[in-house]
Amino acid sequence: MEGKEKCAVFGIYSNKPVFDLIYYGLYSMQHRGQESAGIATYTDKIEIHKAEGLVSEAFKGVFLEGCVGMGHVRYSTTGESGMGNSQPLIINYAGGSFAVGHNGNLINSLELRMQMKRRGSTFATTTDTEIIAKLIAQEHLKEGDFVKGIKQAMNQLRGSYSLVILKDKKIIAVRDPWALKPLIIGRSDNSIIVASESCALDAVGAKIVRDVKAGEIIVIDKNIKSDSVISERLAHCMFEYVYFARPDSIIDGLPVYEIRKKLGEILARDAPVDADIVVAVPASGITAAIGYARASNIPYGEGLMKNRYFGRTFILPEQIDREKGVRIKLNPIKSEISGKKLVLIDDSIVRGTTAKRIVKLLRDFGAAQVHVRITCPPLKEPCFYGIDMQTHGEFIAKENDIEEIRKQIGADSIRYNSIDSLIEAIGLPENNLCLACLNGNYPIKDKQLKLDV
Ligand code: 5GP
Ligand code: MG
Repeated sequence: MEGKEKCAVFGIYSNKPVFDLIYYGLYSMQHRGQESAGIATYTDKIEIHKAEGLVSEAFKGVFLEGCVGMGHVRYSTTGESGMGNSQPLIINYAGGSFAVGHNGNLINSLELRMQMKRRGSTFATTTDTEIIAKLIAQEHLKEGDFVKGIKQAMNQLRGSYSLVILKDKKIIAVRDPWALKPLIIGRSDNSIIVASESCALDAVGAKIVRDVKAGEIIVIDKNIKSDSVISERLAHCMFEYVYFARPDSIIDGLPVYEIRKKLGEILARDAPVDADIVVAVPASGITAAIGYARASNIPYGEGLMKNRYFGRTFILPEQIDREKGVRIKLNPIKSEISGKKLVLIDDSIVRGTTAKRIVKLLRDFGAAQVHVRITCPPLKEPCFYGIDMQTHGEFIAKENDIEEIRKQIGADSIRYNSIDSLIEAIGLPENNLCLACLNGNYPIKDKQLKLDV
């Protein structure tokens, strides 16, 4: 897997310098990627700065001129990090140069890379983003028109891609024909903006115009011009609503906060429990816990405190075992939970490690009972479109039934939302959603790359 789900892209066309706005936009989408950050602007050529770490670290003391520009924050897994694969990626070719930022993952990157190598292409990185960029460049030269080149490239790309491209003095937004990953257009007095999430529009004082449509190519300069390829079907990733996106974002017209709250309400309706207090696994379980508490009339309480500064780069000292190590990230509030029957709400269970550790921790601090309620239906199938879940072996729900999962996690009871409940909470027709990691129904009907090892 190369390009990763949890990336964010941002692009802006303005009549004022844009560097600060790109910085704030990326900062507001830091949750989508903490590995590296990059910004490219256009003066009479492309200026770029990218570095490892959080946005605030990567851009310390940096400023780029220009009234048109774009940025990217990147998340990656072991083996593919490093600055060589960081974004935006700049391509220089006979048709000029452009910068591209990508959120998503191609499923035919191996085939495309081999095909293109046979035709003489060389690759400097291992990312599928470079495949997309080189394909666009090739097709541009063949077609004699940049947007036509993008369309020709899109006809060959299979998988998820929300792209922001900086070409000359234009920003171009592209969303794959299934609209798997979010991408939204906004506007302020001086600027037109494109971003992965609407929270980035809020951060720069812009208003939502609309989401980029499936298969759409939007060219932004003084005006917005739209073109498109045919959309096969919509397949919005359900996990954006359940976990990834910020709860204050609105994706494809739907407020993430309301969906998470509803997921909690439905759990209270369908999986009630006689308890004293509703506790969230922070931060991902909080919105649903509020929904559960309101619907059940059981009070919500902060049973667990999360260290705000805990990041992906945190390395546990070797002398501390992992069970104790969890307390560096999360610590129970004893006075709130001791002697009480708890409903513990989280968004999802992958391997089950988080839930297991937290249940034990809550019991160690005196919880009388711990009833686990999970908003996402059981995750069972690998994601080929960029979510970091690639092997069957990773899923506790693949081989175990509910009772076995309950035992392994050590809970008094455990219940998940059903797939129907998830669809009810999101409020979109089932065939507009990608639910592949739940039911194995992959929306892109191609031979899947074999990633299971
Ligand atoms: P588990 O411990 O069961 O393997 O993972 C479940 C926990 O990880 C939940 O608390 C959930 O919020 C979180 N989670 C789910 N998907 C992801 C992901 O893709 N990345 C990260 N960092 N956390 C995730
Ligand atoms: Mg979590």
